Amino acid sequence: MRRFWSAWMLLLLGLFSTLPVVARETAEPQGAAGEQPIVVVGEARPLSLKALGTTVPLKARTTGVEDEFLVAATDPGLPSLASLFGAEWAWREDCLLVRRGDLKVQLGLGQEELPPDVGGRRLEVPARLVDGVPHVPLSCLEDLLAVRLTLAADGKTGWVEPLIQSIRLEGDSRRPKLVIRSSAPLTFKTFSLRRPERYVIDLAGGVLDTPALKVTHPELGDIRLGQFQLGPAITRVVIPSIPGLTIVAPPPGPSREIAFELTMQGVSAPARDFPVQKVTVARVEPMASGQRVVLQFSGPVQYEWTRLLPPDNRFFLDLPQAILVGPKQEFQVQDGHLRSVRISQFQTEPAPITRVVVDLEKAAQTRLTAGETPHSLVLEIRHDTIEPSMAMLKGYGTTSFPSSGGVVCLDPGHGGSDPGAVNRALGLTEKEVTLDLCLRLARILRTRGWNVVMTRDNDRDVSWAGSSAREELGARVQIANDLGADVLVSVHCNASVNPAAKGTSLHIFKNSDSLLAEELHPTLLAAAGRPDRGIQKDRFYVLAHSRMPAVLVEAAFLSNPEEARLLGTPEYRQRLAEALADGLGRYASRYLKQTTAGP
Ligand SMILES: [Zn+2]
Repeated sequence: MRRFWSAWMLLLLGLFSTLPVVARETAEPQGAAGEQPIVVVGEARPLSLKALGTTVPLKARTTGVEDEFLVAATDPGLPSLASLFGAEWAWREDCLLVRRGDLKVQLGLGQEELPPDVGGRRLEVPARLVDGVPHVPLSCLEDLLAVRLTLAADGKTGWVEPLIQSIRLEGDSRRPKLVIRSSAPLTFKTFSLRRPERYVIDLAGGVLDTPALKVTHPELGDIRLGQFQLGPAITRVVIPSIPGLTIVAPPPGPSREIAFELTMQGVSAPARDFPVQKVTVARVEPMASGQRVVLQFSGPVQYEWTRLLPPDNRFFLDLPQAILVGPKQEFQVQDGHLRSVRISQFQTEPAPITRVVVDLEKAAQTRLTAGETPHSLVLEIRHDTIEPSMAMLKGYGTTSFPSSGGVVCLDPGHGGSDPGAVNRALGLTEKEVTLDLCLRLARILRTRGWNVVMTRDNDRDVSWAGSSAREELGARVQIANDLGADVLVSVHCNASVNPAAKGTSLHIFKNSDSLLAEELHPTLLAAAGRPDRGIQKDRFYVLAHSRMPAVLVEAAFLSNPEEARLLGTPEYRQRLAEALADGLGRYASRYLKQTTAGP
């Protein structure tokens, strides 16, 4: 349900409870349009809406449809409300015009779907004439102004509040910023809770469009968001406290973008989730205006760098959990800026550390960046000098941070009341296979620096048990859209009445989906080892309604005895997860913005 039910709306609904129950729609991704409900328009009654500290009076009519009201299109309250959220609202002849930033939207009488720019939601009660006067559905405020409408139980008052549009970790994983963006300015307060120690941010007046969200940092763990209170809204963000963590809050607002700086001290203790890796390549090569040191690792590593200014004039790079295979290496360059580079196993016990020491001449300029391949680092030593007082002297980072706060939304198909495809012989359901595969994929992606959001991380419906396909799939897409995820991967298993049907397929719909599918396809096919059913274009709901590149994966057929046996083994699911993670990494390195790894 989109909003809280008020008691008298429940009463109204009770009048219709003798109507036959509409059969549950198929939960397969195609979705289906519901039927138009019966509309019974009531008398106009006063409704006062509180928005950003102001009260706006309206006259609203009940419609007999859950949570929907009609308001005269010319009600002066509507443009006043819109202006509070930086929008223009006007009724011209027989059409509503709303402008918000670059967005320009029209809604005409009888129009059943909102324009795609504002999400394309189907209106249960389209705009219509009541006693010859044009009326618009009140719920379209939510889509047109990017707000949430919450009505009090008395049906006479309500709140119109901005949405939390995204929360993500941005920047270097050692010094990330937690950035919260909303559709209108918010204020916040912070405090600490004990046992266990947590740092809490309460965002006043901001509404989450999903019941709960979290972003995960490889060391901090889960940063959780929940709707602490509605009408008036408080969204609560809880950050686990760990030793050495410092949180710097911005000025208390109001602001549409609130950024908290999280700083973690040192990398002396290897962080969890960072396994030991090998240094597979270490070389020094000339570049246009200097030299570069190229390091390639077998997987993600953390690093800590220190710059000593003249007279010491050195650059140290420490790589905990990295093993140098073979002897110590030394490169003599002597080009007037770079003297030499030494790479050695600085420590083996209790945990390995590889150290790179760069001897410089003059105050040579250095720059540490992510390399062109995953899990690589490049240190550039330029034929240029720095102003010593401007130099940064120490920093931390993690290789293969795929983008500045790259967010992937994973959608394990089905769940809760909906098992998806079922293989009765093996007692295996699609919902458990997709969940386990996505949990494995999430674990791998987090160690590679992604922000991972899951539409579900346990066996449940994302909306509610018994919801329609449109509601269930809509709830999943909304999580990805609200978070501003960079990519969406929906995982399913195929099924057919023909037990011989077999193979792996990727499904796309939007043009932007195809680049993602092309990066995932080769590694997934190689790992699956099943026939290639190709990249297919289908108007699946999650593909058509997501605002970011998205792919729906049909891993293999649960109805095929051989493929179902494979899907039932953890090793096979792990293999598929690793292949998808590699494909996502390739996609990120090609199409998502690279993060500078150091000074
Ligand atoms: Zn499915």
